[in-house]
Amino acid sequence: MKILAIGQNYVEHNKELNSKNPTEPVVFMKPDTALLKNNKPFFIPDFTDELHYETELIVKINRLGKNIAKRYAHRYYAEIGLGVDFTARDIQKKLKSNGHPWEICKAFDNSAVIGNFMPVSEISDIQNIEFHLEINGKTVQQGNSKDMIFPIDELIAYTSKFFTLKIGDILFTGTPVGVGKVQVGDRLEGYIFNQKMFDFKIK
Ligand code: ZN
Repeated sequence: MKILAIGQNYVEHNKELNSKNPTEPVVFMKPDTALLKNNKPFFIPDFTDELHYETELIVKINRLGKNIAKRYAHRYYAEIGLGVDFTARDIQKKLKSNGHPWEICKAFDNSAVIGNFMPVSEISDIQNIEFHLEINGKTVQQGNSKDMIFPIDELIAYTSKFFTLKIGDILFTGTPVGVGKVQVGDRLEGYIFNQKMFDFKIK
C-alpha cells in the first residue's frame, strides 16, 4: 500500500506557516514503513528538535482507480478516519528554503499515525466533519473539513491523474491551523465529532 498526503489544504494553517495558498493540491507520499497503528507509542527520532503533530482526516481507498472523475470519486472510499502526519518542522524549514523534496521530514518511519475509521454512511456531509486533537486532556487543534481548500473528492480526482489508487491506500487530507510540538510523555487523543479515533503516547 501507499500513503498519499496533501499539504497546505487549509487557509488558516497556511497563514501560521507563512505558506501561500496553492492553486493546485500539494501532494507528497509516505512509504508503508511510515505507518503507525493500533495506538502504539510514537518515539521521537533523534534527528529533529522540532517534531510537530498535524491532525488530519484520512480516507481509505477501497477500489482500484486511475483518472477518477470528481463526480465518481465518492465510489472509491467507504470509510473516513483520523490520523497524524508527524513532521520534523526544523528539517522541513531547511528543505523548503532550498526547494528540496520533503521526504526526510515527513515520510520517516512511524510518521503516519492511523487511528480508527468510521463508515461514510454514518456521516451526513463529508465536507462538514469536525475533528480535534487533545494533548494531555487539553484541546490543541480543531478543524472542520468545510475549510479544506480542495475537498476530498477533488483530491481523489487530482491524485489519481498521477498515481493509480489501489485498495488499502490511505489519503491524508491536510492539517488545519494549530500545529505544534510534541514532547516525551505527551498523550495524544484524536476525535471526529465526539468519537475517539486514536489515543497514544509520545516516548
Ligand atoms: Zn500534513
